[in-house]
Amino acid sequence: MKVVHSDRHRGHAPTVETYLGVPVPACEVPARAEAILAALGGDGGFELVGPAEHGLDPILAVHDPGLVRFVEEAWAEAERQGIGRDFLVADTYPTRAMFQGMSDGLVAARPEPRAIGGRTGWWGLDSSNPIVAGTADAARSSVDVALTAADLVLGGETAAYGLCRPPGHHAAAAMAGGYCFFNNAAIAAQAITERTGERVAILDVDVHHGNGTQQIFWRRGDVRYASLHADPIRLYPFFLGHGDEVGEGPGRGHNRNLPQPLRADDATYLADLDRALDWIAEAPGSVVVVSLGFDTFEHDPIGDLGLTTAGYHEMGRRVAALGRRLVILQEGGYHVGALGENARAWLRGAEGRPPAALA
Ligand SMILES: [Zn+2]
Repeated sequence: MKVVHSDRHRGHAPTVETYLGVPVPACEVPARAEAILAALGGDGGFELVGPAEHGLDPILAVHDPGLVRFVEEAWAEAERQGIGRDFLVADTYPTRAMFQGMSDGLVAARPEPRAIGGRTGWWGLDSSNPIVAGTADAARSSVDVALTAADLVLGGETAAYGLCRPPGHHAAAAMAGGYCFFNNAAIAAQAITERTGERVAILDVDVHHGNGTQQIFWRRGDVRYASLHADPIRLYPFFLGHGDEVGEGPGRGHNRNLPQPLRADDATYLADLDRALDWIAEAPGSVVVVSLGFDTFEHDPIGDLGLTTAGYHEMGRRVAALGRRLVILQEGGYHVGALGENARAWLRGAEGRPPAALA
């Protein structure tokens, strides 16, 4: 399998994020992608390739131009406004209750603030999403990695893996958040539907619900979204990811959430994976985009499920057994020491190769 990666992710190198308002060491760090790349490079069975530039158009096919402008300008604007910090996060967000009683039209006409703190809240979901000097360039390269993986599959590969960083699935059309700026999987799925005219499915197996992907395709019948994730009653993103969110309008019946119980093990999880795969198989289409997270791992520092490395091999095997071409894109996973072996196990499973002994 070809593995698409770019060194430009290294520019997004936050050292600190905030957890309940307190600075803590950042989780979404360059070492994550480096660990995966080292393991896949050392395997000998994967071919490492660089991404092609795809420009802004595929991003703008999914995202609000205002979000794209914000991500591109945020760091320079923070410096111009003299914020003087190592990283930029907001502390004020436009929550739904602020606008209660106001008409939708008037809410929509509220102007974007000019102060960078207000702008960051305007386009953001949470304060655990630091922006640094190289964030915008890394986010653009992550999209290029995803689109290049899609190109490979549309060009005839059975499967390709995009080592995306930063991840993407929490980013909505007009919102960054959860370590995500541009929604790599959604941008890839959109590009695939445009180029093939086919329906596309997105399978999201990150421990967190992909609220951004759900939002982007909520009213779309041509892109069907299935997600297995920790119940949002317990875990980020808290406000979406429940089983009764099934899409609306033309998208009704094309969104499927499968919240998982605390410490769900391989068997519990794989049973629901089979349900998601059966549901994907009900709709036509030849390509599945996989939002692949390893924060479902039993030792992940921010997840609360109980999957194992052997479970990832089996998951890869079952997803490939669907018989569709796979654009596999990296999302989360924060146990850096196990990330490489977990990625290697999943992808070897998808290729029909046996699990590999640890090097
Ligand atoms: Zn996650």
